[in-house]
Amino acid sequence: MHCPRCDKEMAPTRLDEVEAAQCPHCEGHWLEGEDLKLLESTVNVRLFEWRTLPSEEVQARELACPRCPPRQVMKKVRSERDRHVLLDACERCHGVWLDGGELRAIQEMGIAAALVDAVRFIMND
Ligand SMILES: [Zn+2]
Ligand SMILES: [Zn+2]
Repeated sequence: MHCPRCDKEMAPTRLDEVEAAQCPHCEGHWLEGEDLKLLESTVNVRLFEWRTLPSEEVQARELACPRCPPRQVMKKVRSERDRHVLLDACERCHGVWLDGGELRAIQEMGIAAALVDAVRFIMND
């Protein structure tokens, strides 16, 4: 699976007990529906390193879901709790893309709340 941001091959990684994919280049994470639910209950915020968020301009660029071919554009979900956090969520497979730095930003407002927001958004819309 390739990074939706820079098209590099992503590598499997773990966020606490949750399996995710991470891009070695931009350090973004890809998480899928079931993993999101698990992450909500098991997240260990100490695992997340500080990274600088991409610029607003980079965040605002449309991304295609890495899971759903050929080109399913993901929805932008701006966190209501932190306006610097802009998640990309796929309406089809309910995967969520977090840019490098977003996990840290989300940590400060509660990762569970942020991810629940994202999932609720794509399910209801
Ligand atoms: Zn990348
Ligand atoms: Zn998808």
